[in-house]
Amino acid sequence: MTEHAVVIAGGGPTGLMLAAELALAGVDVAIVERRASQDLPGSRAGGLHSRTIEVLDQRGIADRFLSEGQVVQVAAFGSTRFDISDFPTRHPYALGLWQNHIERILAGWVGELAVTVYRGHEVTGFAQDDTGVDVALSDGQSLRTQYLVGCDGGRSVVRKAADIEFPGSDATTSALLAEVEMVEEPELGTRRDASGIHSLGKVEYEIRDGEVVYNEGGTVRVMVTEPHVGTTSEPMLRDLSEGLIAVYGTDYGIHSPTWITRFTDMTRQAAAYRDRRILLAGDAAHVHSPVGGQGLNTGVQDAVNLGWKLAQVVHQTAPESLLDTYHAERHPVAARVLRNTMAQVALMRADDRTEALRDTVSELLSMDEPRKRFAAMMSGLDIHYDLGEGHLLLGRRMPDLDLATRDGTVRVFTLLHDAHPVLLNLGKPSGFDISRWADRLVAMDAEYAGDWELPAIGQVAAPAAVLIRPDGYVAWVGDGTDHGLRDVLTTWFGS
Ligand SMILES: Cc1cc2nc3c(=O)[nH]c(=O)nc-3n(C[C@H](O)[C@H](O)[C@H](O)COP(=O)(O)OP(=O)(O)OC[C@H]3O[C@@H](n4cnc5c(N)ncnc54)[C@H](O)[C@@H]3O)c2cc1C
Repeated sequence: MTEHAVVIAGGGPTGLMLAAELALAGVDVAIVERRASQDLPGSRAGGLHSRTIEVLDQRGIADRFLSEGQVVQVAAFGSTRFDISDFPTRHPYALGLWQNHIERILAGWVGELAVTVYRGHEVTGFAQDDTGVDVALSDGQSLRTQYLVGCDGGRSVVRKAADIEFPGSDATTSALLAEVEMVEEPELGTRRDASGIHSLGKVEYEIRDGEVVYNEGGTVRVMVTEPHVGTTSEPMLRDLSEGLIAVYGTDYGIHSPTWITRFTDMTRQAAAYRDRRILLAGDAAHVHSPVGGQGLNTGVQDAVNLGWKLAQVVHQTAPESLLDTYHAERHPVAARVLRNTMAQVALMRADDRTEALRDTVSELLSMDEPRKRFAAMMSGLDIHYDLGEGHLLLGRRMPDLDLATRDGTVRVFTLLHDAHPVLLNLGKPSGFDISRWADRLVAMDAEYAGDWELPAIGQVAAPAAVLIRPDGYVAWVGDGTDHGLRDVLTTWFGS
């Protein structure tokens, strides 16, 4: 039986990112992907939020995405759009880039790393024992692995086979989403009526002066809210035509669909992200309305939280209990996403009272403090893992500062490219005793004279030293001594 240290079911954005993180850490990892190629029939998610761009920048690949997408201010809560250009990040914006391109670029990166990909294969089940997992594939073969990670989307076979509960709420709205050609030029933009929100846009667009500009002709992306929830039949062109006529009075002569799908606001989250040797990440662990564009982003960031932890457990440099911090840190992050999407869906309802509420929320969010807080939440920049009391940096993202070092100016994110932890001594040159971790840790004396500023929080006191985890979150803040450092190093990077 073929063996891999880790097998990932599903090579969507989450599975690809996780595979790359594990490969960077020297783990023998394989993806089993049902699709024969990385191509997606439709465009799906529309882009990346600021924190995800930062996470990709931490690995040195953000430019690959930035060069193909459109930088735009689209972080929003409900109908209120935020301008985050004043946020203290190198990427104070979102990136408009369809998911098919995001996956293609991620797959290109994964292709440069030592990852085995079994394409056109499906995981059908597994059996785990004390030493590993037998992963059953649709062609009757199986793979042996130490850990199986279900990155196999909302209908996750891995989650179901592991019998992990998926509590939450059923759908309250349902919409058809499609990419089609139209004989007539449609009325582009968003329309709201008694049945909900509908929109027509083009797949190809440019951002000019902060606004979306569509070319004439080309493929149209249609979204029409359905009058009823719960239809289970496969959506057809006729359903879309009827939906368009009901809302716009015409179907604009739709034809040649490349993709017709249905999505709802079903909101559910796995009760546990781990059952012994089985882990869940991305849509396999959480599903919700696409409002706010947070699904893909949350999945990619799940992967970056899990990758370095799982690598250390596989290499036996850290105990298995480190994996429990994955659930402890990422479950609350997605729970918050679920909550904010439910609130946004409620704000979209089409009655007079909801409209009054929408206006009220909009007015509130136009004030600077609420804008900063909600924009930091929607862009993922305010994520805070509970690592105990202490300096405001603790458990938060390390800013990408320009450090003065012996070798010249170095960006913090550049130090994270290889996914190693980084110990920065920013005070007097000191001799932290880190010999036990020296083979796994980048340690450096550096100076930084500028302000320390965090999104939505503002200025914080300059630390004397910081320990940055491979995922870019601060695990320890020094006060000029090494107080607590060895304990923290042991917690995260083993003894
Ligand atoms: C209409 C729509 C609009 C969206 N808009 C946004 C947005 O703007 N921003 C955003 O962040 N998110 C958005 N999302 C959500 C986003 O598409 C998902 O959150 C994202 O794709 C999740 O990535 P994933 O890798 O976890 O799962 P998926 O993308 O679902 O990938 C799962 C992969 O596993 C494979 N697979 C499934 N089962 C098996 C199996 N048994 N064996 C092997 N392989 C298997 C699948 O082929 C697939 O490649 C949108 C979603 C929809 C439907």
